[in-house]
Amino acid sequence: MNKIYGIDLGTTNSCISVLKEGRPHTIPVDGNGIVPSVVSLDGTNLLVGRKALNRAAAFPEQSIRSVKRLMGTTEKLTLGNKTYEPEDISAMILRYLCDEARKIEGHEVENVVITVPAYFSDAQRRATMEAGKRAGLTVERIINEPTAAALFYDHVLASDGDSQQVLSSKAGEHYALVYDLGGGTFDVSVLRMGEIIEVLASTGDTHLGGDDFDKRIVTRLLQEIKEKENVDLEDYVPALARLNAVAERAKIALSEKASVRVEETRIPTPKGKSCTVSMEFSREDFEAMTEDFVARTVASVEKAMEEAQLTPDKIGKVLLVGGMTRMPAVAARLEEIFGGARMPVVDPDLSVSNGASIQGGIISGENCEQILVDVTPHTLSLESITYDFRQLECSPIIPRNTQIPVTRARTFSTVYHHQRAAELRVYQGESLFPKENTLIGETSLELAPAEAHCPILVEYSYDLNGIVHMVAEQKGYSRKTELRIDSRNPQLFSSQGLEKIQEDEEEETEESPNAVNFVTQRARNLLSKMEPGAKKDALTQSLARYEEALMDDEDALDEVEDELLALIEAETSEREQEEQEED
Ligand code: AMP
Repeated sequence: MNKIYGIDLGTTNSCISVLKEGRPHTIPVDGNGIVPSVVSLDGTNLLVGRKALNRAAAFPEQSIRSVKRLMGTTEKLTLGNKTYEPEDISAMILRYLCDEARKIEGHEVENVVITVPAYFSDAQRRATMEAGKRAGLTVERIINEPTAAALFYDHVLASDGDSQQVLSSKAGEHYALVYDLGGGTFDVSVLRMGEIIEVLASTGDTHLGGDDFDKRIVTRLLQEIKEKENVDLEDYVPALARLNAVAERAKIALSEKASVRVEETRIPTPKGKSCTVSMEFSREDFEAMTEDFVARTVASVEKAMEEAQLTPDKIGKVLLVGGMTRMPAVAARLEEIFGGARMPVVDPDLSVSNGASIQGGIISGENCEQILVDVTPHTLSLESITYDFRQLECSPIIPRNTQIPVTRARTFSTVYHHQRAAELRVYQGESLFPKENTLIGETSLELAPAEAHCPILVEYSYDLNGIVHMVAEQKGYSRKTELRIDSRNPQLFSSQGLEKIQEDEEEETEESPNAVNFVTQRARNLLSKMEPGAKKDALTQSLARYEEALMDDEDALDEVEDELLALIEAETSEREQEEQEED
């Protein structure tokens, strides 16, 4: 029998997965497997997925998003001079997923299980089936999204540090609550988990999702622009598209950081000029701004519990689905309600399609007792400097319990004009503070002279053998460096890491002396370990002088750098001596 693929056909994003050697595996369509459910017309070409999303920002009237909301209706949609039914647009997304999957897999992808929300009516389910047919696929089954999520989570035991986690559904009958907050919709379902998975109650809000959270940030940005630049962009679509994208990035960053600064230049205005906005948001502000949305989801949770005639203490597991569940306030609120209920932390974006692929495996007769889910046992992050330059922190790139193999990237930026190098330190662990995590490798990226805030793309890949592969690139300047680390063998890593650093340093001395400058970060690292006192004050002042020179006094730079380096060396050797004496 052909392989059966699992498809999460979502309102905002879609995914396709398949079971391989007993493991659910998300196929990396569009890079990371999360494919925007967007179709856009470019001349006579129909684009789907990420390319369509990029185009949709500039040409919203030639693009279709969130078609899932229209499934089962008779609404007509226009693209160029053609009209389509919602089934046709969904078929394009399905066809794109399967065509791209075929290119990666090397064989036809024809048989699928597609997921739908538990509340979908018969007409909506039939429309989804029809979309599959119009895409030329054999739809083996339509299953409920919460059921798929539960199937997947059932294969993940949330035991710390255990990276290979095994089937747990034999734990007897119990109840689970699936909380699914995506980009445009919110669903909550209560399930009875036993030999079969039964949906006892399902409710939600078809018009509440991440987009609404983004809009609250946009509103603040619009107010600020109005006050500072005296221009009203409330109805100006090109500016709104730009601000929406910026707001979403800020929201995502606030899931990991205590505050973010939104800096956007060249925002288009109706008179053909551009304007700028710069605003700081703290996580606290953002939580207060969106408190009512979280409260609305909680009201739905209570309603679902009432319909299922259960009290919170009967819920054994709370399963988080949808990108928005990464917002810390969401998990915190659920923890308040469900107390000790287990909330396994796995990748909330992929659990539905992975679960659908498990259903596919069950239909095609694979031995599902053997299904394994490999996940990252620790968060992998990169050391960065906070916006206020006060401290170093770990910025997660691959969160703990993400299903592997996985590739994730994040964009960082330089701090100074003409910054000479970026020091790249890879940490493993759950703390925000580098000194509380484990340093597993480090290297540096020599930079071409550029303005401050020049983007540096850092990509981590983590494979089934625990090998971390980091690639860092200064965007637009073709400067690149790579590092391989064996994260399951710390000794080996650190020595490999060291070798790599030494190699790099040798190369750099040969080719471009003085190219690498770790000075700032070395000083900050030391400062974070020093007790208050005269030595700490001297180092702080010297660092401030150095940073000032970096910004606007090239002439004084060498002298100030020598002074700072001397202080660093003196403090470092003193510390090393103390450590030796203690040993
Ligand atoms: P989904 O429809 O499940 O793909 O969820 C997409 C929504 O999740 C979008 O609104 C994203 O902005 C949001 N999202 C993704 N990652 C995060 C994050 N780390 N923190 C907060 N929201 C996120």
